Order: sequence, then C-alpha cells, then structure tokens
Amino acid sequence: MEDYCCVYCQEKDKSFSKLISESCPEHPNGKNKGNHFAKQSPHFNQGSLINTNITLVFSCPGQWEKIMKKPVSGQTGTNLDFVLKCLFNRKKIISEEFISRYDYRITNASHRVHYQKETKDTEDKDKEFLYSDKNLFRLCQETKGTEFIICFGKVAQDIVKRMKDKYNIKVKLINVRHLSFQSINHIKYTDTKMDNTLSHTQNRLFKVAEDIIRQSKISI
Ligand SMILES: [Zn+2]
Repeated sequence: MEDYCCVYCQEKDKSFSKLISESCPEHPNGKNKGNHFAKQSPHFNQGSLINTNITLVFSCPGQWEKIMKKPVSGQTGTNLDFVLKCLFNRKKIISEEFISRYDYRITNASHRVHYQKETKDTEDKDKEFLYSDKNLFRLCQETKGTEFIICFGKVAQDIVKRMKDKYNIKVKLINVRHLSFQSINHIKYTDTKMDNTLSHTQNRLFKVAEDIIRQSKISI
C-alpha cells in the first residue's frame, strides 16, 4: 500500500519525504517547476496554514479514515475540532482563524489501518513495528519544523517521545488523553468547570483544551 499521493499528478510513494522532494510533472506553476504535493492519506494531513506551529498526533487510522482517505475522520475528529476552537477562543497556541482540523498538520503513531471488522483491534499493538527505525523516521519527517507536538493518547505519547529522543529534536511535547468517547468519558463530569451552555461532552473537551494550555506554558 502506497501511503502518500501527489494531489496534482497522483504519483504515489511510501515515503513522504521522498515524494515531496521530487519535482512534479503536473505542478500548477508548470512542468517540474515545483515538487509533488501530498496533502492527505488515511493517517496523514499536511495542513494548509503556512505558519502553523503545531502537529497533532493520534494512534492509528481506522475504518472511517480508510473510507474518507484522511485522518481523524469520525467522532474523534469532531471532538478535535471543538478542542481546537477552544484553543483559538482563548488565543492560546492557536491565534490564526481556521476552518477545521484539516488546516493543521495531523499524523498517527502508526500509518497502518486498524479496526475491529478487519484487524480485530482498534490500535496497532505491534511494538516491533512501532519502535522500528522506519516508523520513527516517518514520524520525524511528518512532524518536521513544528514548535509543539500534541500527542493524543498513550500510544502517540510513547512513540513521539522515542522519536524526539532518537533524533534529538527540539520540540515541545504536550500529552493529553485520546479524544474518542471511550477515553473522554473517563473525565469525571464534576472535574469540569460545568458551563451550562455546553453539553457534557463539550465540558469534558474544554477540560482537555485547558490541559493543553497548561502544558504549553511549562513544556520543554
Ligand atoms: Zn505530482
């Protein structure tokens, strides 16, 4: 399975860095007057904001991501949109206006698709693969040049920490829980600020946003 596809000429490659380093015969500026541009795949979204300083890392793509051919496509994605809006409203980390999560760089700890019906699990638990040089290098390429990496869930946190140590990258890590309902429903409702204009879910997500803001001030 090729992971990345150029939006102009449909050239495919397993390596993101290799693909975007090569000239594109159908580049909008003219033949070979620019490189391939790989915007989205089930596990990866390049983002559209030029000055974006954050990369969002989840665990692995599932059924919805496979169908939609972009990451965090289901309810987790809707929850992510709400968290990003909270950060923007507070003018913390996010100061530019944006339309949706796809304005931001998003990737996953694993690029392999996992879901109950097909793989009988929802997470990539293959430690040998997750910790492989190949996978850590992929993650390094995809998160390059970012100031903050926000890791959602334990799998993402673990892999990103390894990647940062291995390549000695100066990036600030922020670790929060995964945004699936299974995860956020563990946030005790009484622990939230309980804004009555927000739903239970939104109050819980607001708490996650607060956690991100708190860590952004102290993370190194
Ligand atoms: Zn191309």
